[in-house]
Amino acid sequence: MSEIAENLADVISQVAAASSRCRRDAEAVELIAVSKTFPAEFVRQAFEAGQLHFGESKIQEAEPKIAALPGSLHWHFIGRVQRNKVRKLLQNFEVIHAIDSLRLAAYTDEIAKELGLFPKVFLQVNLGSEPTKGGFDSEGLRADMDALLALGRLEILGLMCIPPAGPDAESSRPWFASLRKLRDMMEIEFGVRLPSLSMGMSGDFGVAIEEGATHVRVGSSIFGKRSYRVDGELG
Ligand SMILES: *Cc1c(COP(=O)(O)O)cnc(C)c1O
Repeated sequence: MSEIAENLADVISQVAAASSRCRRDAEAVELIAVSKTFPAEFVRQAFEAGQLHFGESKIQEAEPKIAALPGSLHWHFIGRVQRNKVRKLLQNFEVIHAIDSLRLAAYTDEIAKELGLFPKVFLQVNLGSEPTKGGFDSEGLRADMDALLALGRLEILGLMCIPPAGPDAESSRPWFASLRKLRDMMEIEFGVRLPSLSMGMSGDFGVAIEEGATHVRVGSSIFGKRSYRVDGELG
């Protein structure tokens, strides 16, 4: 077995263990293998080991990889969305995880209409109000929610967060719990279903699953240590 296949098997068993700790069905958790900075060949190895969902955070890097790999892969854009890249993102990715403003959502809706698409998206919430991260704050999300729901082309799956960096996995738990609570309250206040929560990375995906994550974004635990930083926030 390749090292990537071994790592993947290990992560999958940790997903199953975390799911059973909280009596959730492991099938209800989508593992997204974050392949940013790693070559297409690494993605192929994971694919051959059975992995179908992959995450990238830069369109320039992702486009040639997506083109080089089988069409049966499911691509998630997990990076910060730049307005001038929206068209390319919609053409290449099935899910966009970090819609961070009403203005961006409205523009994405408009381009989706032009392209004849109904993209799946997550709304990013900046729980720690960190200036370096994008996202709605919880009050802003409430204020914009009616307008967001009126965008007929976007299928809003739920909420996404990248919690402030902490010393260990447990330090992410309160942030994950508060994203879930916010989701639960929004569902009641707005009478909608927001079934999905995109939260948890290599360091804390087990805790995220215990707190209700439906999509975990795991890179280095599968593909190894990244040798350079990709964006301002996360290397
Ligand atoms: C890079 C990245 C990940 C994966 O991080 P790892 O620690 O390597 O698992 C997850 N989510 C986002 C938004 C990222 O940018």
